[in-house]
Amino acid sequence: MSQILWTSSSVTLRDTVISGYIVNIEPLKIGAGREPPLEAPVDVAVLRMNYKNTTIPYIPGSSLKGVFRSYATIFAKAKGSRVCSGLSKETCGEIIKLRDEFGKELLLNDLIDLYIKENMSRKAMEIFFNKACLMCKIFGSTKYMSKIYFSDAYPIDEAGNVLDFKFNVRTGIAIDRVTGAVYGGALYTTEYIEPGAKFRFSITCRNLPNYALGLLALVIERINDGYIKIGGFKSRGFGAVKIEELKFKNREAESSLKMRSLEPSIDLEVDLSNVARLENGWIVAEKNDAWEIIKKLRGVWDIVAKSD
Ligand SMILES: [Zn+2]
Repeated sequence: MSQILWTSSSVTLRDTVISGYIVNIEPLKIGAGREPPLEAPVDVAVLRMNYKNTTIPYIPGSSLKGVFRSYATIFAKAKGSRVCSGLSKETCGEIIKLRDEFGKELLLNDLIDLYIKENMSRKAMEIFFNKACLMCKIFGSTKYMSKIYFSDAYPIDEAGNVLDFKFNVRTGIAIDRVTGAVYGGALYTTEYIEPGAKFRFSITCRNLPNYALGLLALVIERINDGYIKIGGFKSRGFGAVKIEELKFKNREAESSLKMRSLEPSIDLEVDLSNVARLENGWIVAEKNDAWEIIKKLRGVWDIVAKSD
């Protein structure tokens, strides 16, 4: 039997769910849309929505996904891995050139399309697996669905109660970037969320091998230690967060406290028998034990990335 590729979506090899609360220790500004230029004296509101007759702020899953992809890319590059930028028109499928069996040069995406049209989906998946970078495999690309899903993060606990948060507004002076003078005497105001708000998040992964989970684990560690910030105004003392009540859940194809290697000769097995328990077929761990698992998985990334 040929190897089952973890990028395949027709088979479930593993489900992993990492959840907890993002707690901001600095003011947090998750705005709608793009950050305005420094000199623009505009008022920037925090993204908000209605829930049970109140207005709550939230962190969109797409923002969290953006943070994870961009830092995973930076960390993978630092280890010497070849990864694409992930930007529009720059993903692997859009930049890697290959030859078909007649010697004709095609982009990876076009070759995949060709195989799919000819009912060679196995071949299409194989060529994606062999040619696309780890970021495209984890986070997806134009032709390939993401293996990871980020929920929106709300200040709502597991029972559905709204948690405490406080909006506030800061006024600053808009400085002209060229002359350094105050820009027409203009002030800008920016809305933010006071430190101490708790946003419940969850990250769901399908079929990710241990080393790929390890790269995500590294991003989680760096978020928690304040190295990676979230939202806008990062250079002005905004956006540092920590992660509380971390929970790790994982279900293997066969019920076990071992997370097996999903990629022969590359991935490494991880034994969680000291830090986790089995619950209805799921490997489950909370708080310190969950952080131990994050550390173990990151250790796999460290080893695999070095030997890449
Ligand atoms: Zn790529």
